[in-house]
Amino acid sequence: ASNGANGHSQLPTEEDMTLLQLQQRYAEEAAKRIRADGPAQFLDLTDADTDRFKAIAEDPWADHAALNAKETVKDGATSKFLILGGGYGGLLFAVRLMQAGLIKGPDDVRLIDAAGGFGGTWYWNRYPGLHCDVESYIYMPLLEETGYMPKQKYSPGSELREHAERIATQFELYDKTLFRSNAKAATWDEEEKLWTVQVTEGRGPNEPSRELTLKCQYLLVASGVLNIPHVPKIPGLEGFGGEMFHTARWDYSATGGSYENPDMEKLKDKRVGIIGTGATSIQIIPQLAEWAKELYVFQRTPSAVHPRDQKATDPEEWKTKIASKKGWQMERALNFVAHMSLATKNGEENLVDDGWTKMPAYSALIGSPGYGLVEPTPEAIGANVARLHKMDTHTAETARARVDQIVKNLETANKLKAWYPSWCKRPTFSDMYLQAFNEPNVHLIDTNGQGIEAATKDGLVFAGKEYPLDVLVLSTGYRSPAFGNGNPAAKTGIEVIGRGGLSMDEKWKNIGSATLHGVATSGFPNLFFAFGPQTAGTANFVTMLEVSIQHTAHILAKAEEKVGAGSRAVVEVTREEEEAWTMQVMMRAPYFASIVGCTPGYLNGEGQSARQDPKDMMKASRSSGWSEGMLSYIEVLEEYRREGSLKGVEVTAA
Ligand code: FAD
Ligand code: NDP
Repeated sequence: ASNGANGHSQLPTEEDMTLLQLQQRYAEEAAKRIRADGPAQFLDLTDADTDRFKAIAEDPWADHAALNAKETVKDGATSKFLILGGGYGGLLFAVRLMQAGLIKGPDDVRLIDAAGGFGGTWYWNRYPGLHCDVESYIYMPLLEETGYMPKQKYSPGSELREHAERIATQFELYDKTLFRSNAKAATWDEEEKLWTVQVTEGRGPNEPSRELTLKCQYLLVASGVLNIPHVPKIPGLEGFGGEMFHTARWDYSATGGSYENPDMEKLKDKRVGIIGTGATSIQIIPQLAEWAKELYVFQRTPSAVHPRDQKATDPEEWKTKIASKKGWQMERALNFVAHMSLATKNGEENLVDDGWTKMPAYSALIGSPGYGLVEPTPEAIGANVARLHKMDTHTAETARARVDQIVKNLETANKLKAWYPSWCKRPTFSDMYLQAFNEPNVHLIDTNGQGIEAATKDGLVFAGKEYPLDVLVLSTGYRSPAFGNGNPAAKTGIEVIGRGGLSMDEKWKNIGSATLHGVATSGFPNLFFAFGPQTAGTANFVTMLEVSIQHTAHILAKAEEKVGAGSRAVVEVTREEEEAWTMQVMMRAPYFASIVGCTPGYLNGEGQSARQDPKDMMKASRSSGWSEGMLSYIEVLEEYRREGSLKGVEVTAA
């Protein structure tokens, strides 16, 4: 209720009532979807122990013959840096360390990746319609260094992968990288002051795999956030008799066409089903609609779909406006952050000017400088949540109205409307998705929040009805980035043993997240991570990678300077200082309360966050983000660097 001039509470206004009704509707929709099994409703494909799911998880893209013909990294090799991951994060680590003068000789750096090539997300995902959802001018890393001009405002997956290859070629990383190789364990060797990493290299179907032990002074983890595909444990799913695959391993042999030319002519006489309507499906469904004889879209929760407004890059505008001066890319990326997190200064131009920058309530997820510090009282938390809901009403209503404008069938239109606020699931952008539901071959099977009941040899079952299918696409997402409470080892699927036999899993189990600035943790010297907990978020993951990686490069450059040339540095965060940072982060946790009550999804532990006992909740709050947003977080890091003493980091010579 609003307060009158005399400060007394007045009756709720009409606006208050509408907002309350909206929140009530959101709460009902979320409640429908809460399941007792939470994240356990999914099976990670890396844990699959049956032939069908194991085969689905395999790398469809590796050129085994070419990779087997060349030995890049020998068993027993020791390097100064070992980078785990060959996606944009791993590449950024390599380049920023080179630029900081820390990688000098050809043997200073090695990379490993389970994939058969560079690109990470953009290596594994090759589904038709794949594009980045953040402007490519700020999403594609190192555009200044490579001199590359993206062809469009939002690049297709192929261009994003080729860009990873471009970076690797320009910075001569191919000969230093071991592909198809899974890191399983990393152990700190106190005597040698080196990390020992156990790796299994897969060599394709015709050769046995190879076990390797690699050593390094610094272990840098860039293992990504959304790279372990999972599938729902739907009874009977494995026994489905038709073709079945996950979107992160698209099977062009089943659909026809290829990554380069995705004309899926094999689907012309097929009944195709797709489970899931998240950000991936929004891009795929228009493509399937074009080729499939019949397309059945099985929906549990609709996505909010905003306009995309794709456009070709104008070379003149690129030269004169976008990429016209040194440092333009980070400046543009931070301008985007400012517009997303309500942090613009007077009249600051909106350079990217797209849907992301007109979605103020997304700041619920990424923080905001003016609002980030919220008292840990129910009143203050409630007021912040109400403020965010109010701010979101226009965005959410506009998205729902857009469905009515585009989708002709009233019943279908109603089912496609998202009844949750913008911050609960990744918002999507498309000028083709909703339109696809006007096609006569596209059928929306809305499960009213319940999901599929069962699969049979012939198809999927919902509400007792079987839908016969020839091809089934599992667009069911990934293990949550929050898995393991932000523990980088658990996220990466490796066992990390630090000083004195301390296991990272054990440390996180006992105390939860503990880092300095989100880049390193005590007890694990010379280990740094690109996507740690306790950092700031934004919609552009590459900005997050850049900020963490540049900070690590700074710490390492300073540390090396301290020990001097000729000595090997051992760099370790102190327990005291990581706890001080953790306290800062925990202080900011109340701001994020609006996510707890969201419709279930990977951001809130599939709805389980609200059901944690207070001790677990406290532990989880240690993994919070920086609630005042990315720009504020950067200021803190810059101040730390200006001060220059590497406070909280112990540096010794090995
Ligand atoms: P990744 O690209 O995931 O690379 C990590 C690499 O580490 C992988 O290749 C993996 O094989 C390897 N790896 C992991 N563990 C091990 C191990 N134990 N041993 C060996 N190798 C290992 N973000 C955006 O900001 N904008 C977007 O438009 C966007 N689109 C996306 C689309 C899809 C389909 C998905 C799944 C994610 C998207 N993201 C997007 C998030 C995206 O993951 C990040 O933007 C970014 O690519 C992450 O880069 P990374 O290098 O940190 O991780
Ligand atoms: P999501 O986790 O977002 O979506 C999975 C989908 O599967 C949801 O619609 C989910 O429903 C549905 N689902 C799960 N289990 C069942 C079931 N038993 N029955 C019916 N439906 C089910 O995965 P995505 O791959 O779509 O996206 C993951 C993330 O990757 C995004 O959030 C985004 O960050 C990134 N991404 C970005 C893209 C871009 O535009 N560049 C493209 C693709 C991905 P429910 O919502 O009810 O759980």
